[in-house]
Amino acid sequence: MGCMNNMARNVVIKSNELEISKNIKKILIDKFLSVGFNTSEEIRDNTELVISIGGDGSFLRNVRDLNFPDIPFFCVNTGHLGFFAEILPTEKEIDIFIDAYLNSTYEINELYLLEVDIKGKDEVNHTYAINELVVRGNQSRTAHMGLHVNGNYMETFSGDGLIMSTSTGSTAYNYSAGGSIVDNRLNIIQITPISPISTNAFRSFTSSIILPGQDSEIAIKPEYKSEHTIITVVDGQEHKFNDVYEINVRNANKTVKLLRLSDYEFWDRVYMKFLKTYDYKTNEARI
Ligand code: NAP
Ligand code: MN
Repeated sequence: MGCMNNMARNVVIKSNELEISKNIKKILIDKFLSVGFNTSEEIRDNTELVISIGGDGSFLRNVRDLNFPDIPFFCVNTGHLGFFAEILPTEKEIDIFIDAYLNSTYEINELYLLEVDIKGKDEVNHTYAINELVVRGNQSRTAHMGLHVNGNYMETFSGDGLIMSTSTGSTAYNYSAGGSIVDNRLNIIQITPISPISTNAFRSFTSSIILPGQDSEIAIKPEYKSEHTIITVVDGQEHKFNDVYEINVRNANKTVKLLRLSDYEFWDRVYMKFLKTYDYKTNEARI
């Protein structure tokens, strides 16, 4: 490889294991090579874009595997829902995307992240979340945990668990658990209870709480009854911990950048992915 090749603009292309995803990856590699780019699996000094082919889960995993780089991502949906995706896996849509990319007719949508510290006896686990952090009990037991905001005691939650969601994650698990959909231009942290107990024995908030992303420090202090184990789930990745005494959640000092084509609109996306079954413009049933 000569010097010229090293100087070429680079795009990282990641695909999941589906045949259709691998085919789209080949097509994308050919098209980017033909306009003078090179492509790779890993991020290089001259990487300017990461393309994720798959579903939302693939995007979440790719961002984590690549260590939350400051480079924009673009998602091609071959998954089920594809809330993060901008195009479907067709050559026509790929050409529209490449044209838009070369002509810079796109926008960058910055996703606010959570920063999470899970503090155990011997170590602190530090991580970021795009959608959410879930804290729950081990083996379906009732979880009990103190919730503190900016040093103020709020409640001792009892129930299945708590979801700490970003605005981006508001349409995911948070929504299934009865939380609100939040426009992803807002930097907030939404705390949503999963099956909260509200009786004379245990009292928990039964609705979501929404905090400003800036200047909110959340502390969760597990209260152990028998075994000293909790489960944390960050963007779908589950971990089991023993003797965690505190979990801190705050707005991260960084974002994940998503490349959006010029017709992107958050609420149109919500409608298309959640409610639309019939296209009143073309009189066609949804495919
Ligand atoms: P998964 O079980 O396949 O995800 C469940 C669904 O959530 C999939 O349809 C996924 O889209 C969709 N999704 C992910 N992020 C979303 C977002 N920001 N807005 C709207 N929908 C979204 O697991 P996964 O694909 O690895 O995704 C992990 C996420 O699943 C977690 O972050 C959590 O939010 C969610 N989850 C939801 C529930 C629930 O609703 N009861 C339970 C556990 C986890 P794709 O089909 O495109 O992958
Ligand atoms: Mn999935």
